[in-house]
Amino acid sequence: MSKTATSFYYPNRIGRIVLLALEEIIGRSGVNAVLNLASLTGYINNYPPHNQDLHIPSEHISRIQSVLEEAYGPRGGRGIALRTGRACFSYGLREFGPQLGLTDLAFRLLPLPVKLKAGSQTLAGLFNQFTNQRLRLEIDDKNIFWHIERCPLCWQRQTADPACHLAVGLLQEALYWIGSGKFFNVEEKLCIARGDETCTIVVTIQPALSTPICHSERSEESPPAWGMLRRTPSWRSVPGKNAPQHDRPE
Ligand SMILES: [Zn+2]
Repeated sequence: MSKTATSFYYPNRIGRIVLLALEEIIGRSGVNAVLNLASLTGYINNYPPHNQDLHIPSEHISRIQSVLEEAYGPRGGRGIALRTGRACFSYGLREFGPQLGLTDLAFRLLPLPVKLKAGSQTLAGLFNQFTNQRLRLEIDDKNIFWHIERCPLCWQRQTADPACHLAVGLLQEALYWIGSGKFFNVEEKLCIARGDETCTIVVTIQPALSTPICHSERSEESPPAWGMLRRTPSWRSVPGKNAPQHDRPE
């Protein structure tokens, strides 16, 4: 895969996480169909290796997002991307947990607002350090603004509405986990694909009083335990869609 000056990249292991997470939601056959439609057949049964090489072009990540909407419809595609983002966080925590330091006792004992801000800064730092994605945080008393200045999810797309649902799902799950089971409103307010300067996702620091719709399928579950990296079984299928065929490839 040759690099061009205008392309930006994710490391192989993040590309791998995205495909493994997507597979949790739509199954291996679903992933294969999406990769076919996206003309990315090179990844079929050949997920990127587990290394840090910057070989996954933003175009590939973006094309997968747009094919999800084409194949499953705008609402269906959005739901799958959100769930994929949540699953990505679980994989990411396994991959980057020690670097994130989110499981350290000292971090765990911080007051919630401090934990949210510190956790967000750590997460943003990870993307800035290990990927070509560029993230800038802006924090005030009520909100954390995630300004994505170079976004692989909507790279070279043009949409009427914000389109970076995978990032929203990832943040939802990250904050649910950092907040020891509390829910936070997470909404993409601006999107480069819609003509905005940045993709900006706004997180309300005050936990939501009621469980948001996007988490309703998990309302019966207990909050995640610290230090316990578990998979949430209810993500594993989308109503009416293919159930995953197996746990994970390889
Ligand atoms: Zn975007």
